[in-house]
Amino acid sequence: MAKREKSVMYVEEPEIGFWEATFVPAIVEGLRTTMKHLVSRETVTEQYPEQKPDLPLHYRGVHRLNRDEKDRVKCVACMLCATACPAHCITIEAAPAPKDWPDRDKFPQTFELDELRCIYCGMCEEACPVDAIELTHIYDLTGQTRDELLYTKDKLLNVFDKTRDNPRDPVRTGRGVLGPASEFQALPTLGPATQVATSDRSAKIGTAGVIESGTGNVTDGGARS
Ligand code: SF4
Ligand code: SF4
Repeated sequence: MAKREKSVMYVEEPEIGFWEATFVPAIVEGLRTTMKHLVSRETVTEQYPEQKPDLPLHYRGVHRLNRDEKDRVKCVACMLCATACPAHCITIEAAPAPKDWPDRDKFPQTFELDELRCIYCGMCEEACPVDAIELTHIYDLTGQTRDELLYTKDKLLNVFDKTRDNPRDPVRTGRGVLGPASEFQALPTLGPATQVATSDRSAKIGTAGVIESGTGNVTDGGARS
């Protein structure tokens, strides 16, 4: 306990003297900084939009949905990006994959991403097991309505088409092969720990139901209406 107390450092507020109370030293210091910038030849203002900013390589801008080597959307509708998204701005409707897409079970029937709601954290990109969603260097997106900035699957694929050959936005993974999520096998049979003794009342319900308190009777949830 004594050791913890030693680790706390208390700082006393300094007393303000006569000159500090007049604010004259602070004003002089402020004017000195202003004069220094007035006579300095160093330019710090970027002449945007004539001069484009030099963004770092890890800049996170507008999203894109990548295509695979057959030009199909790479996404397998696993919902991991939507689950990881802290801003809840991704909405996906999954559908069974077309018959001639044997390498996956599902694909995104619809995929919507609200670019206005997004906080550009990059967690969707991190979560995606097949590297289907990526953030690009596009930062200057504009629109006249909210709907225009609700990016649909087509818009997101279009961003991929526009940026795929831009050296600032390389496809970060090899094209063609889907990741581990597309290679899941059938789940193993559940073990004994999940089995319920036939005498247990929970074994008597085939569907989700309601256990009436006190009586021990089990009724079907749908029968309550
Ligand atoms: S960048 Fe972050 S906030 Fe934007 S869609 Fe991805 S996970 Fe959501
Ligand atoms: S995490 Fe990737 S594969 Fe899964 S739904 Fe999102 S974009 Fe599609």
